[in-house]
Amino acid sequence: MSVGGWRQFTPFYFYTAVALGLGAAATAGEGPSGGGILSLLVTGLLSWGLVEYVLHRFIFHYDARSESGRKLVYDAHLSHHEDPGATDRLFTSLRMSAPIAAAYWVLAWTAAGSWRAAVYLFIGLVAGYFCYEWLHFQAHHGRPRLRPLRYLRKYHLLHHHRTPGLRFGVTSPLFDLAFGTYRPGGRRRLGLSRRAS
Ligand SMILES: [Zn+2]
Ligand SMILES: [Zn+2]
Repeated sequence: MSVGGWRQFTPFYFYTAVALGLGAAATAGEGPSGGGILSLLVTGLLSWGLVEYVLHRFIFHYDARSESGRKLVYDAHLSHHEDPGATDRLFTSLRMSAPIAAAYWVLAWTAAGSWRAAVYLFIGLVAGYFCYEWLHFQAHHGRPRLRPLRYLRKYHLLHHHRTPGLRFGVTSPLFDLAFGTYRPGGRRRLGLSRRAS
């Protein structure tokens, strides 16, 4: 892989380092108990599904009027719809994700009322984000054998090729179900070639 190819993994190095650093700081000294930490991690992980859904539905498919707004939406997501098989646009850039991570951090700290609790929520969120990137990669470039992964792959490819205004969930259809944008997978095969996906 070229240097440019490795560069697209920068967000993974960055958020792994941030999560490990924050985790080390939070576990040193007084903080939540073991059970409290676990529930914060799980809550953070589940909150990723909502973050993913809100961003994908309301920002990444937003019909912007201004030139700069259209460019932002295009760079963030619509370029991926234009060429879903392109690997250089598959992973979210650090420039795009960092403001979202910062906003989440502020919200989590405010809601939890303690920076240590916010750290565990944030680590859960990062785990959800990594799962998303892996599942999204599988949807476009994998041939998963496990039935749930095959289901998610088909669900996301239906979003791309049949219903870009529906089926926004990538890691799960849970929030589509909750907010009325869920549609069943359908029985017909997609009949998409590897390159077309
Ligand atoms: Zn996609
Ligand atoms: Zn989309």
